[in-house]
Amino acid sequence: MAIPKEEITEIRNSVNIADFIGQFVALKKSGQGFQGLCPFHNEKSPSFNVTPSKGIFKCFGCGKGGSIFDFVMEYKKIGFQAAVKEVADFAGIHVQIDQADSFKANPNANLYEINNQASYIFENYLLITEQGNNARDYLKKRGVNEKIAKQFNLGLSADSPNFLYQGLSKKFEEDVLAKSGLFNFSNKQAYDVYQNRLMFTIHDQNGQVIGFSGRIWQENDERQGKYVNTTTTPIFEKSDVLYNLHRAKDTIKKTKEVYLMEGFMDVIAAYKSGINNAVAIMGTALTEKHIKTLARLASKIVLVTDGDKAGQAAIEKSLKVISNIDVQIVKIPDAQDPDEYARDHGALALENLLINFRMSKSEFLMDYLRPTNLNNVVNQLEFLQKMAEVIAGEKNTELQTVYMRRLVEILPDFEYNQVEQAVKNVIKSKRPNQKSFPINSSGQSHYSNQDSNSFSSSSFSNRYEESDFASYDAQEFSQSLPTRKITKSEKLEWQLLHRMLLQPDFLEKISQDVSVKFIHRETASLYDAMILEQLTQGMIDDIYFPESLDPELRNLYYDILAQNLPEVISENELDEILSALRRETILSKVEKLKLEGLKAQNEGNQKRELELANEIFQLRKSLQDN
Ligand SMILES: [Zn+2]
Repeated sequence: MAIPKEEITEIRNSVNIADFIGQFVALKKSGQGFQGLCPFHNEKSPSFNVTPSKGIFKCFGCGKGGSIFDFVMEYKKIGFQAAVKEVADFAGIHVQIDQADSFKANPNANLYEINNQASYIFENYLLITEQGNNARDYLKKRGVNEKIAKQFNLGLSADSPNFLYQGLSKKFEEDVLAKSGLFNFSNKQAYDVYQNRLMFTIHDQNGQVIGFSGRIWQENDERQGKYVNTTTTPIFEKSDVLYNLHRAKDTIKKTKEVYLMEGFMDVIAAYKSGINNAVAIMGTALTEKHIKTLARLASKIVLVTDGDKAGQAAIEKSLKVISNIDVQIVKIPDAQDPDEYARDHGALALENLLINFRMSKSEFLMDYLRPTNLNNVVNQLEFLQKMAEVIAGEKNTELQTVYMRRLVEILPDFEYNQVEQAVKNVIKSKRPNQKSFPINSSGQSHYSNQDSNSFSSSSFSNRYEESDFASYDAQEFSQSLPTRKITKSEKLEWQLLHRMLLQPDFLEKISQDVSVKFIHRETASLYDAMILEQLTQGMIDDIYFPESLDPELRNLYYDILAQNLPEVISENELDEILSALRRETILSKVEKLKLEGLKAQNEGNQKRELELANEIFQLRKSLQDN
């Protein structure tokens, strides 16, 4: 039986989170709470904070944070119920979790089981039978020996219409057979989906078999579909799959890197080169879901592609999906895939290539987006604007300079200061008056005014520069803000949400004020979720509410909660925040217009430039009137 809600609250309330985490992490008193070395990432100076008054932990290095139960789940790699039990044991409270119930609670248990048994049959068919012998020869020619075949659970499906069905139909109920994705049914006859195909077994993150991909392997096989994948079933969704993740997981966590490849054989080739942290997607586009899964384990994705046109286009697409995680690209020479390259040049050569020949996103795109005809100024300008976006996204300012220099070399009609200006404008438009709050070893943060004047200004933006941002001077909080860069407007939104979470009267007041508008998508979603929770539950429970959010928002929730704001709230703090937020909304509009103005200026469109200048003037006037 699941542990009742009241009991969970009681368990949580009877344990001091710092005492509990102190069992696993050496903690030292610091400010409102405790600090120590983060158990979830490698660090030399402590950025892992535990705040008993809020009942949370938060690492400002890797971003992990949550309740006491989240800590146990992450630290011990266990589920929620088991985590509650751990904490209860620590508190000396007796709770029972019924194993059988948790099995019954998984309605898909039979589907996992039938896939598991199918995988067993395919593997043995490859290893023992006569036909399997031929397939093993084929694999050997492709550089896959028996040992590796076993390690990767490769198999072979029989060249027969219902070999698998005969093996499994007596053991499983009809609805399980029907839902498994392993059989086609027509005229009350069942047929195996996989006949005479080389079988790649697909596992989920936890190593459970969820489906298959079957490949034709005989030269004279002229059936359509080189690969056949399991159709969508309750446990298998092709576009969610990261092949080999369950094997690669530990190495990914250790190295903080993951190689993302195009095919199963590429992953196996990498493994033979000693690279154990490679995964592959299943012939679909890279999705945000893939990235989220990987970002939980790694801090860097290395995209590996054969260098052909389609492959490079796929990389460009993937780059658009990837955010909040570092990325590098390896382009295999001669349009080969990693498997082909390893067969031609050897495992060592592939390893060398994967480790030592990586490109940054900017380098890749500078090469990929470069127009063929660079004599045309319009082509140059388009290219410049695309690259300015890319370079602006580069975090390291030295690297930015390097890329800008390279860009100048490529563009015959542009000079360094023009390139620099274009980059600067993108940065401005994206992060108005952005500040960063790196935490130093003592846990104190300090401002660094990154975008202040490291770039030399030129005409257009100069005319509309400065003074826009100066006035709102809310409390500057000096402690423990996360290392992630947040803009001024985000900071205001965070402050507001923080107050709403800890002051029920704030929450009530704000939830009735329809004029409150958030600028940033993420904070806006969290705000909506909070208002909804308040309306439906009458309160925001500090355990159940974050549990109900998806990982991205949960993280934000804990980031916001972990801010150290002064406990005393000034009388008009709420009004100040709200009016500052309105101001920031207008300012972000002004920034957008400035960028357009620069573009108009570059294009020599004086009329448009004037229009924009006028709009900016009006907006700034409305600020003064407020
Ligand atoms: Zn950490």
